[in-house]
Amino acid sequence: MSDSCIFCKIASGEIPAKIVYQDDQIVAFEDVAPQAPHHILIIPRKHIRTTLDLTTADNQMIGHIYQIAGKIAHDLGFSEDGFRIVNNCNADGGQVVWHLHFHLLGGREFVWPPG
Ligand code: 5GP
Ligand code: ZN
Repeated sequence: MSDSCIFCKIASGEIPAKIVYQDDQIVAFEDVAPQAPHHILIIPRKHIRTTLDLTTADNQMIGHIYQIAGKIAHDLGFSEDGFRIVNNCNADGGQVVWHLHFHLLGGREFVWPPG
């Protein structure tokens, strides 16, 4: 846990969030500034700064995040229409919170290429 990290504080319950799923490895909660009708953030409980800080020890956890993303999309009713999973890495990727997270976006059509 990083004392200054807002997502570590959400994972520990120190800062409130609308949690939609959690287990011993990961937490999923609603984004405070949603960019789609459904906008969920999925994070590891472990403080990992960016995608570049992942190691082979994290392989199972990343697979688990993707599996749970699909389950959340299914449970919230937008899996069949479709959805997008986004990880922003570093400045050009648009990362602003320095705790690894995956955006699960659904409930509308998304364009490609992304902005
Ligand atoms: P990034 O640009 O780093 O990929 O995305 C960070 C996301 O975290 C943004 O979509 C932003 O709205 C969300 N966010 C930032 N602070 C908080 C917070 O305190 N609570 C919640 N639920 N989401 C947050
Ligand atoms: Zn953190």
